[in-house]
Amino acid sequence: EGSLTVAELAKKLGKEPSEIIKKLFMLGIMATINQDLDKDAIELICSDYGVEVEEKVVIDETDFESLEIVDDPADLVERPPVVTIMGHVDHGKTTLLDSIRNSKVTEQEAGGITQHIGAYQVVVNNKKITFLDTPGHEAFTTMRARGAQVTDIVILVVAADDGVMPQTVEAINHAKAANVPIVVAVNKIDKPTANPDRVMQELVEYNLVPEEWGGDTIYCKLSALTGEGIDNLLEMILLVSEMEELKANPNRRATGTVIEAKLDKGRGPVATLLVQSGTLRVGDPIVVGSTYGRVRAMTNDIGRRVKEAGPSMPVEITGLNDVPQAGDRFMVFEDEKKARQIGEARAQKQLLEQRSVKTRVSLDDLFEKI
Ligand code: GDP
Ligand code: MG
Repeated sequence: EGSLTVAELAKKLGKEPSEIIKKLFMLGIMATINQDLDKDAIELICSDYGVEVEEKVVIDETDFESLEIVDDPADLVERPPVVTIMGHVDHGKTTLLDSIRNSKVTEQEAGGITQHIGAYQVVVNNKKITFLDTPGHEAFTTMRARGAQVTDIVILVVAADDGVMPQTVEAINHAKAANVPIVVAVNKIDKPTANPDRVMQELVEYNLVPEEWGGDTIYCKLSALTGEGIDNLLEMILLVSEMEELKANPNRRATGTVIEAKLDKGRGPVATLLVQSGTLRVGDPIVVGSTYGRVRAMTNDIGRRVKEAGPSMPVEITGLNDVPQAGDRFMVFEDEKKARQIGEARAQKQLLEQRSVKTRVSLDDLFEKI
């Protein structure tokens, strides 16, 4: 606990309470024998006696944050960047995502079915890039609202024939709030009415000053429709990724975030997970949000069965007892019993929280009516 009375502290230190009171007085703290002392005062007195205060850290096992392992920097290795495409409606986000995916499809094994799992990986110059394929601000804000930061780089798509629009600004604000670097994709340069310079001028007002104008924002002029300039965009993503020094420890129990989840008639709860740290394996006991289970089957973005997934890799898994929510965190545990216990505790906690929110809402309603 954080506090002790003067008498209790004196007893622990083997001193007279009057001596403690005197010391406190010298430190400018007026205290009586039964007064509660705060942590700072206790520490001051203890250090005066050369006693180190050991803080008892209470671990809440339902709180992933407090279970999070701090990695030794020596264990960290480079990982692929996770990229989100944002921008105004109709500026070409979906077309760009499809175009990137299709342009690299030859590098994947023939026969792989392109299936939508909410994220995919492409290989560029022998390096992987992960794209979250739920473009849009909603996905980004939902994740952030749930405390998940999954994106390393934002690609801001701006149509060269339309310029900066309200959702362009919104996207800039989201990226800045999340402290994520922005690469601008000036799209639709194939159009006769395209005016890339105007886009750059407009974006300077939002502090996105192009490199060629002395700033540090990378602009890629491209056409998502014809494919022109896309290779360059991918190379620029790798460049930014290198500057960001994105790293993770693959040799630990996996943690990460839910990208999307649904209930499948045949397979039960299905979730796309983005592994952010460690390596996820088939058979791992896992807690996902307030659901739990054992990873039964794991498939990658082209529908192939995989046995493991390292940092920045998206995989679809089955084996959970219920459907988690996008933005939920997941964590692997040492055994199934533990995963179940923690999963159930988290579900219980969530239920209580939802109930208290409901009560509060209905009380507010009541007061509004009065
Ligand atoms: P989103 O709303 O941002 O996902 O935009 P879409 O990808 O759905 O694109 C909106 C429209 O713009 C579609 O009709 C696309 O075919 C078209 N479009 C997207 N990229 C380009 C491009 O580079 N050039 C041209 N001419 N049209 C494009
Ligand atoms: Mg779209």
